Amino acid sequence: MFKKILIANRGEIAVRVIRACREMGIKTVAIYSEADKSALHAHIADEAICVGPPASKDSYLNTKAIIAACEITGAEAIHPGFGFLSENPAFVKLCAKCGIKWIGPSPEAMEAMGDKANAKQTVIKAGVPVVPGSEGVVSDLDEAKKIAAEIGYPVMVKASAGGGGRGIRFVQEESELEAALLSSKQDALTFFGNGDVYIEKFIVNPKHVEIQLLADEFGNTVHMGERDCSSQRRNQKVLEESPSPVMTEELRNRMGMAAVNAAKACGYSNAGTIEFLLDANGDFYFMEMNARIQVEHPVTEIVTGIDLIKAQIRVAAGEKLPFKQEDIKMTGHVIECRVNAEDPAHDFRPSPGKIESLHLPGGFGVRMDTAVYQGYTIPPYYDSMIAKVIVRGDNREEAIQKMRVALSEFLIEGIVTNIDFQLGILEDETFLGGKYDIGFLGRKM
Ligand code: ADP
Ligand code: ADP
Ligand code: MG
Repeated sequence: MFKKILIANRGEIAVRVIRACREMGIKTVAIYSEADKSALHAHIADEAICVGPPASKDSYLNTKAIIAACEITGAEAIHPGFGFLSENPAFVKLCAKCGIKWIGPSPEAMEAMGDKANAKQTVIKAGVPVVPGSEGVVSDLDEAKKIAAEIGYPVMVKASAGGGGRGIRFVQEESELEAALLSSKQDALTFFGNGDVYIEKFIVNPKHVEIQLLADEFGNTVHMGERDCSSQRRNQKVLEESPSPVMTEELRNRMGMAAVNAAKACGYSNAGTIEFLLDANGDFYFMEMNARIQVEHPVTEIVTGIDLIKAQIRVAAGEKLPFKQEDIKMTGHVIECRVNAEDPAHDFRPSPGKIESLHLPGGFGVRMDTAVYQGYTIPPYYDSMIAKVIVRGDNREEAIQKMRVALSEFLIEGIVTNIDFQLGILEDETFLGGKYDIGFLGRKM
């Protein structure tokens, strides 16, 4: 087992990983930017190293400084968390060159899955159904017109390197295609430094249902059931739950097997997620693979009782999975709400600033993953997600009621959050009915 791990991230996910390491008796190294001197992750780690100025590109994406931090501290492995360098195969290769173990998939598997246009071709070979669309990247308007006409409007233009719902454009008819291509490309360049885009058929009112995978380095791959992430605003997840209210045992087995086959097709190891769109007929389509731990991983941890971060570390250290598919059991119902420092009254614009007072919810079946504390100032440079409230009930009704109670108890002064917006979802008839799709929040607002 590793003696020391560097966590190349910040915020609640860095804290989450540090806690797992400490429980396993592994020493931790945090990295932080000049804007994060007083961030929790930098304080609870055994060592903390400043890697540069506030802007992510100068600090959390500063690969040279991060490698140097490993060398100075003697860290043997890097846990990347999500976002930042977590899906950057060039960095994974650099780590290997420097003798640092990556807690995640191999760079080859990441390359096969990380480019979203590519990934679809990879999984088609494994017999997994995909959203109909272009075979790979679309290079010009004429090609785009031809493909869109073939698959039929409406279509989506999406960034190959995309993530976090960015660079996605809806196109109702041909006249809108040129503008959508240009603006998607522009977003893709700005956010991901890669202007490649691809085209997909727009699936009408599907659910977003994803399958959590865990694989060791000996080819053993299990799925850990699904998460329903259909509560979305502008293609970004807001609330997640497991099991999906529309799931059946038969459908779970089919989706789970498809996900396992997709992962095996690219020799995938460590934790990963396959995202599907699921339509009202029970047909599902591969959308993308996230080759990293996800924001909503606690939902699966609680419903299965398996600590995914510890499992990631053990698998990266060369251990075999200690369980088989038939050992994975889902019990109860789990919901996660993402708490963001943003202002719903002003188009959800970010609301950084000082937290003047803070009271976090707690109690039986309530988990808080956060890195904020009273007196902490949320810097304006990073993601606005500041906390995740995760609750478990014996059934969906109990979980919903527990979440209402937990969010009502959450007190945070000095900044604006989306907590009331989340409480609104928990009262929404469509949400309560369980058959809500990815468009329901958009239609509600
Ligand atoms: P998940 O399904 O885990 O929520 P997301 O695609 O929403 O996946 O991304 C997870 C987190 O990573 C979000 O906080 C998002 O803002 C961040 N993120 C996604 N892509 C990038 C990127 N290219 N650079 C930096 N952060 C990113
Ligand atoms: P990201 O990498 O940003 O997470 P995804 O490919 O996962 O991008 O898409 C984000 C969200 O956009 C999905 O969860 C889904 O709600 C919506 N979406 C993506 N592709 C389609 C599609 N072809 N039809 C309908 N909705 C889609
Ligand atoms: Mg996605």
